[in-house]
Amino acid sequence: MSIPSFFELKHIFDTPESCTNFLMENKVIYQTKECRLYRINMIRYSKTWRCKNKKCPQVSIFQNSFFAESKIEPNQVMLILYMKLINIPSTST
Ligand SMILES: [Zn+2]
Repeated sequence: MSIPSFFELKHIFDTPESCTNFLMENKVIYQTKECRLYRINMIRYSKTWRCKNKKCPQVSIFQNSFFAESKIEPNQVMLILYMKLINIPSTST
């Protein structure tokens, strides 16, 4: 398996939003989320899922994913992983 070039993947690293879209398209994180209480689809606001019922708890779109505990943006995580993959120390940028 060959590693895609940086330029092929650049759009993933550009912004948290572009990375989030990539993760959703590739089903790394959920594209939709259902409210546990009301069994209706939640609405995405940036990095959270919210229910129409305002009393329901908000849920991170990264819940239960590799990115859930990350303190940095997902695109930064992906960039670091990519640099590890191609053996460039992440401190060199
Ligand atoms: Zn709800």
